[in-house]
Amino acid sequence: MAKSAAGASPVIVWFRSELRLEDHPALSAAVKSGAPVLPLYILDDAAADRWKPGGASRWWLAKSLDALGRDIAKRGGRLILRRGDTARELTRAVEESGATAIHFTRGYEPWSGALESGLHTLFSGMDVAFKRFGGRLLQEPEDLRTASGNPYQVFTPFWRAFRRDFSPSRPVAAPERFSAPPREIASDEISHWKLLPVKPDWSGGLTAAWEPGEDGARVRLETFIAGTLSSYATGRDRLDQFGTSHLSPHLAFGEISPAACWRAASAALNDKGSSDQSIETFLKELAWREFCYSLLIHFPKMPDEPLREEFAAFKWATVSTDLTAWQRGMTGYPIVDAGMRELWATGYMHNRARMITASFLTKHLQLSWTLGEAWFWDTLVDADLANNAANWQWVAGCGADAAPYFRIFNPILQGEKFDPDGDYVRRWVPELERLPANAVHSPWTADAATLKRAGVVVGKTYPSPIVDHKAARARALAAYESSKAAKP
Ligand code: FAD
Repeated sequence: MAKSAAGASPVIVWFRSELRLEDHPALSAAVKSGAPVLPLYILDDAAADRWKPGGASRWWLAKSLDALGRDIAKRGGRLILRRGDTARELTRAVEESGATAIHFTRGYEPWSGALESGLHTLFSGMDVAFKRFGGRLLQEPEDLRTASGNPYQVFTPFWRAFRRDFSPSRPVAAPERFSAPPREIASDEISHWKLLPVKPDWSGGLTAAWEPGEDGARVRLETFIAGTLSSYATGRDRLDQFGTSHLSPHLAFGEISPAACWRAASAALNDKGSSDQSIETFLKELAWREFCYSLLIHFPKMPDEPLREEFAAFKWATVSTDLTAWQRGMTGYPIVDAGMRELWATGYMHNRARMITASFLTKHLQLSWTLGEAWFWDTLVDADLANNAANWQWVAGCGADAAPYFRIFNPILQGEKFDPDGDYVRRWVPELERLPANAVHSPWTADAATLKRAGVVVGKTYPSPIVDHKAARARALAAYESSKAAKP
């Protein structure tokens, strides 16, 4: 450990959803103060109500904390890990270390505001400075409002105002050294938290697909900017191509700042010296994330209740076998099943597939968007309360700026359009591997000889469709009409 000014009281940097050292305002202010820095992470299982990290997020968290701990150790510091009630663990850390200040990054989840103000009161009483910083978003949600002072509920005007006014913060380098606090305090061992799955260990696909941590995030961004970004506008919708950044889990765990992503894409724009649709589209997606957070902060019930009141009484179906078929990728619609199996194997699903599978659950199967939201929450490595809830509501038609409920994706046409040769389906649904492109999105329509050559027996080696598309569409539209009629 590096030597610190004898007796100087440390600043605790309470790490929450920003597991990085670069571009970290709470950390850089602590370093700048000249005091020794005590990095602390608290796993508080009770803080997040029913939105505790899901299985895939726990896997990512374990790996990410490990990487952060190593990055801090390389600089002479030590990441302290504690598990339990946040107020209790912060108080203990203050008492044990003699800290006189705590720095942290603002949280936006519905429980964060009350937690932060309770802690503020607690530490004011103990004469400990409790300082909040930004950094998780490009800008604070309260800073962008309509001319009449209300939060935006429609993305296009939000984006126009955002693009016009926003400029990113300047980059802030990671501290070169951490000066050690005068008193050592105890830390948990991350392995004792049992965040990783064991019996069974389903994480092999996640390990193969991802490198959690700040280095992994940096490599993702650099690779994307140097390669995929140039064709992002068209490539981002193609299921069979690696056409997007795959930055979402790194952003969800704060291993990279959205400002770093914005700056890197803008620099590519400046290099071109002209407008570029791909870069603009990417910046716009980063702004979607801001929009979702803005919705969450202004409508904190969004994860649990529809934003459009008329959907509160919507009569969702209750057939649980359909839910199981959807979760396991056994609906008989290859594009839906490919998406759900990609999710299970890698903890990630392509955005287009998220829209198709979400539409299928809420329209074809008439199951509530909250069931899909909960499954994604448990299985996505990028599970993010704001993005997940806002997007589920968007697809289900009950969100603020949602696709209308009656816009029902046809899973066969979506497959043919965004996976034209069927490569995405073949990759994730290997039992259809030998079907030709003209049959791979609707195996039940193929002639007997084609099916035989491909070794496919519909209903046996691959399921028959669990619902008929046309009938399901008609049923969904009828349900929507009757819910409108029932509206008070
Ligand atoms: P890119 O296309 O490279 O986009 C760059 C970044 O912009 C993403 O990493 C993400 O942070 C942001 N972004 C892109 N699209 C959206 C969007 N529609 N809404 C908000 N932010 C966006 N995203 C999550 O991060 N966490 C979730 O839990 C989540 N749940 C979703 C659930 C449903 C039903 C749907 C339809 C979408 C969901 N999304 C979620 C949004 C989107 O699918 C992912 O952000 C995207 O697929 C991540 O891949 P990428 O990093 O390659 O994205």
